[in-house]
Amino acid sequence: MFDKILIANRGEIALRVLRACKELGIATVAVHSTADADAMHVRLADESVCIGPPPARDSYLNIPSLLAACEITGADAVHPGYGFLSENARFADILAEHDIGFIGPKADHIRLMGDKIEAKRTAKRLGIPVVPGSDGGITDEEEAKRLATRIGYPVLIKAAAGGGGRGMKVARSEDELIDAVQTAKREAKAAFGDDAVYLEKFLDKPRHIEIQVLGDGCGGAICLGERDCSLQRRHQKVWEEGPSPALNEEQRAQILETVRRAMCELQYLGAGTVEFLYENGSFYFIEMNTRIQVEHPVTEMITGIDLVNEQIRIAAGGDLPVRQEEVRLVGHAIECRVNAENPVTFRPSPGRIDYYHPPGGLGVRVDSAVYQGYFIPPNYDSLIGKLIVHGRTRNECLMRLRRALDEFVVAGIDTTLPLFRALVRNSDIQNGDYDIHWLEHFLEKPETVDTAG
Ligand code: ADP
Repeated sequence: MFDKILIANRGEIALRVLRACKELGIATVAVHSTADADAMHVRLADESVCIGPPPARDSYLNIPSLLAACEITGADAVHPGYGFLSENARFADILAEHDIGFIGPKADHIRLMGDKIEAKRTAKRLGIPVVPGSDGGITDEEEAKRLATRIGYPVLIKAAAGGGGRGMKVARSEDELIDAVQTAKREAKAAFGDDAVYLEKFLDKPRHIEIQVLGDGCGGAICLGERDCSLQRRHQKVWEEGPSPALNEEQRAQILETVRRAMCELQYLGAGTVEFLYENGSFYFIEMNTRIQVEHPVTEMITGIDLVNEQIRIAAGGDLPVRQEEVRLVGHAIECRVNAENPVTFRPSPGRIDYYHPPGGLGVRVDSAVYQGYFIPPNYDSLIGKLIVHGRTRNECLMRLRRALDEFVVAGIDTTLPLFRALVRNSDIQNGDYDIHWLEHFLEKPETVDTAG
């Protein structure tokens, strides 16, 4: 097992990793920018190192600074959390060259899945169903036109290096196609430094359903159920739940087995998520995330398995925690991503939290690193915490969520809590009747969100 882990992240996920380390009896090193000197992960870690000024590229993304912090503190492994360097294969390679453990998958798999064209090819080879589209990147405009006509409009142009919902363009007709391809290429080049784009059928009313996996790197893998992340704004997840209200036992068992076999064949190592769109009873692979995800607590609540703990154990050479036939999905869990944003305009709302009262009680979990008096810096993403609720049934979970949301007080800044209070009372949500476009339509009627709430 590792003796000392450096956590190359901030906010709630840094605290989440820190908690797992403490339970495993591993010493912790927090790193922080000058904007985060007062952050909770810094206060709770055994040691901390300032790695640079506020901009992430100079601190949390600064590989030489992180290496120096490992060197100074004698950390023997790094947990990257999500975002930042978590899917940077070069970082994993550099750590290996310095004999420092990377708590994540093999660098080759990060590289493979980081290129979405290669990822789709690999998924197909492994027997995973994919969205109909181009087999590789689009290089020729005539070819793109022919392909789009064959698969049928509307089509989606996506960046090979895409992430976080950026770099996607819809074309509804041939007239829009060439323009959409050119815009997508330009935006992809600016955002990711790579202008490779590919084409995919734009699915009309799909749900986003993803499968959590753990692999031992030697051909063993287990699937820990699914999460339904269809409630999205600008392709960013807002509310996640598991199990999906849309699947029956047979459909679930089938997709879990398909993914498990594929991960065994790939010899995948550590935690990962295989993402699908689901429409009319069929699954279509869109991408694989080779890291822990924001919404991982949903899976933890219904399986009882601590995913971060397992990531660390597996990276240190440990076995998978259970066999597939021992995995039990118990009850229902929902996660709400609470952002420091106006709940109607979604404008970021950094600043001081004057008063903070998180909810509690049976089945209620809050993963957050904020506290009363904390100043939210304007330099990073606006997630300030996640409210995760578990119940024996989906109905019990919804009842409990409504109660917990009413109890949650964050004063001094705007948060998205009022949006969730409106969602939990909505009949479509209560019936589990929503697809990936539902929330965008709901938000077109902003009076449905009571901002005083
Ligand atoms: P990113 O890596 O940027 O998150 P994904 O490929 O995971 O991109 O897609 C993000 C979201 O975009 C999906 O959850 C879904 O809402 C939407 N999306 C992606 N592909 C399609 C498609 N072919 N048809 C319709 N919506 C799509």
